[in-house]
Amino acid sequence: MEKNIGCEIDFLPVGNGDKSGDAIAVRYGSLGNYKVMVYDGGTKESGEALVDHIRKYYGTSRVDYVVNSHPDSDHASGLSVVLEELEVGELWMHRPWEYSSKILNNFRDGRITDNSLSDRLKENLYTAYSLEELAKEKQIPIYEPFQGYRIGEFIVLSPGRNWYLYKLISGFEKSPEQKETGEDNFSLGYILSSLNEGISYLTSLVNSSWDLDTLRDDVETTAENESSVILFWPFINHPILLTGDAGIQALEKAAYFAESEFKVHLHKILKFMQVPHHGSRHNVSSSVLDKIVGMRKDRNDGKTSKIAFVSSSKESTKHPRKAVINSFIRRGAKVFNTKGKAIRHSFNMPKRPGWVPLAPVQFSDEEEGWD
Ligand SMILES: [Zn+2]
Repeated sequence: MEKNIGCEIDFLPVGNGDKSGDAIAVRYGSLGNYKVMVYDGGTKESGEALVDHIRKYYGTSRVDYVVNSHPDSDHASGLSVVLEELEVGELWMHRPWEYSSKILNNFRDGRITDNSLSDRLKENLYTAYSLEELAKEKQIPIYEPFQGYRIGEFIVLSPGRNWYLYKLISGFEKSPEQKETGEDNFSLGYILSSLNEGISYLTSLVNSSWDLDTLRDDVETTAENESSVILFWPFINHPILLTGDAGIQALEKAAYFAESEFKVHLHKILKFMQVPHHGSRHNVSSSVLDKIVGMRKDRNDGKTSKIAFVSSSKESTKHPRKAVINSFIRRGAKVFNTKGKAIRHSFNMPKRPGWVPLAPVQFSDEEEGWD
């Protein structure tokens, strides 16, 4: 019975210019008994593409689970199209505006009231909030994806409910005036490097070495990104990890939870994973990659330990970072990038006519310097 179970994961293209996003469709189970999950919908345009894709390749207009990893619009927008056009069983998303009375103490400003905080969260995260409104209108049940919950066969490894409520939400709100508008904000200490990211064509390249990651441990990403729902499919033959825009903190917590709760070391068992945040250098460190992808291998090892997919827009100059991709390759991962095209990974699923093998991203002899 078990051995007939398969899974396919499709990363659809999202965005243009330097704007990347995620639109991911997953189908798993056995013939005649498949489940469909959408994990992020990208822009409205990629939402339309997801709907067409599910109808055409999965042969259904039903999606069992829609998951929004985090409220940024490059991940949430297209989900409204999926909710509008397909029959959706469950919507899984966080609703930070529901918790304002619990977290008011985190804010020093005594003038903030429960309602004003809730309203501000709704306003700032409007794309996500409008998903909730749409689901209510369509009577689609909404659940919140916190650590330990199951979405079909997938398990939420992060965020934990307390971390989300008492740390992350106040990070969303802490300093709206410090944030630039746009999808990929970084917290105050990183504004300079985030400006550097924006003019990445000026970022100097340095020679890379097989034996050395150039990633840093002291980087951080936004609280919104850290709130990304990390999903784990523990299927024994083919474990899978979806990471959204999660950063180092969330990935560490996910690895720890998998170990303490399920006695599994992710790096030993994973067969497929998503490179977080379109391959940004602000979301991974060498030590977190050791825990999830594995230790660096000998260059001549030649063994592929896992497949990693990264989603970046076709013209993106900053996603994915060579430094990040090289660090995955050093650990035996084969990395594939959407770069404006749909890409598919499948295990034990029917062949899909017309889809041909794709070449993995090669190890790069140069990486971006940090100065
Ligand atoms: Zn993103």
